[in-house]
Amino acid sequence: MMAVQDPLRLRGELRYDAPLAGHTSWRVGGRARRLYQPADRADLLRFLLDLAPDEPLLWLGLGSNLLVRDGGFPGTVILTRGCLEGLRRSGADGIQAEAGVSCAKLARFAARAGLTGAEFLAGIPGTLGGALAMNAGAFGGETWPLVRAVETVDRAGEVRGRSSADYRVGYREVQGPAGEWFLEAELALQAGDVTLGQARIRGLLERRAATQPIGLPSGGSTFRNPPGDHAARLIEAAGLKGLRRGGAEVSPKHANFIINTGGARAADIEALIEQVQVEVERHFGIRLVPEVQRVGVV
Ligand SMILES: Cc1cc2nc3c(=O)[nH]c(=O)nc-3n(C[C@H](O)[C@H](O)[C@H](O)COP(=O)(O)OP(=O)(O)OC[C@H]3O[C@@H](n4cnc5c(N)ncnc54)[C@H](O)[C@@H]3O)c2cc1C
Repeated sequence: MMAVQDPLRLRGELRYDAPLAGHTSWRVGGRARRLYQPADRADLLRFLLDLAPDEPLLWLGLGSNLLVRDGGFPGTVILTRGCLEGLRRSGADGIQAEAGVSCAKLARFAARAGLTGAEFLAGIPGTLGGALAMNAGAFGGETWPLVRAVETVDRAGEVRGRSSADYRVGYREVQGPAGEWFLEAELALQAGDVTLGQARIRGLLERRAATQPIGLPSGGSTFRNPPGDHAARLIEAAGLKGLRRGGAEVSPKHANFIINTGGARAADIEALIEQVQVEVERHFGIRLVPEVQRVGVV
C-alpha cells in the first residue's frame, strides 16, 4: 500500500518528474519520478518514515560518480547536498561532518583547523556521503582509513551508530549493512600545520588540473584500475583517446575520463563505456570494470 504523505509536515522541497541532469557531473540523464531535497536531518528522517516500503530509492550527493540513464529514475531521489551540511571539530584531532558536506569543504576546513590527513579530499568533486559509499581516494589517501564512526539511517528512518568494523572496505568499494545510508561520520586526523596543509591542497589541485580535463562535464575515472595497471594506460595504448559516440568522447587529456562534449545522451556515454571495454579486452585480454555507477532505466 502506498504511504500517504502529509506535505504540511515536510519542510523540504518535493518535486515530481524532476530532471536529474543538472544534479550530475556528466550533465546527462532523465528525470526522477520524485526528487526530495530535505530541509535538514530531522526533515529527512520524517520523509523516510512516510516512504512506501517498495519505493525505489536513490541517494544523490553531487552526482559525480553517477551515470543516470536517459529514461530516468523510476522512484525517489534524495538530495543530501544543501541538507546534511553540519561540519565541526570533534575533540583534539577529529572532525564530525554530515554526509552532504562537499569533500573540498571538508579538506579546507581540516587544513584551516590545523589537522592533516584529509588534504587528498580537496579535489574530489563529491560529498562525504558519496566518498563513504565509494571509499573515494586520491594521491595515496582513501576515505575509510580516516573513519572513526559513522551514523546511518535506513529507509524507515531508523538511525544507527556504526564503527568501521561493520564495513568491508576495498579499492573504490564498500560493503556494509544492507539498506542503510550515511548521515554523518566522525573522522580521525592528526595535528598538523595550517600553512603546510593549505599548500599541500594547492599542490594536489594543481597536479589534478595538469592531468585531468577539469571543467568539462565527466564522471571522473570511468573504470577502476585493474590490479597492477592503470585503466588510462590501457585505454591509451589501445588507441582509444578521442574515440567518440554522439556527444561523448574519451578525453584526449586523460584516457580514463569520458567527457560530455555537449549534447551527449547517457546512452552515448554508456555505449562508449562498453566499446572501450570491448577494445581493451581485445587488445590486452583485460576486462575493465566501471568505477562509475549506472542507475535508472534506458
Ligand atoms: C572530475 C572528477 C574527478 C574525480 N576524481 C576522483 C578521485 O580522485 N578519487 C575518487 O575516488 N573519485 C573521484 N571522482 C568520482 C567521485 O567524485 C567520487 O566517487 C565521489 O565520492 C562521489 O561523491 P558524490 O557525492 O558525487 O556521490 P554520487 O555520485 O552522488 O553518488 C555515488 C554513490 O554514492 C551513493 N551515495 C551518495 N550519498 C550517499 C549517502 N549519504 N549514503 C550512502 N550512499 C550515498 C549514491 O547512491 C551512489 O551510489 C571524480 C569525479 C569527477 C567528476
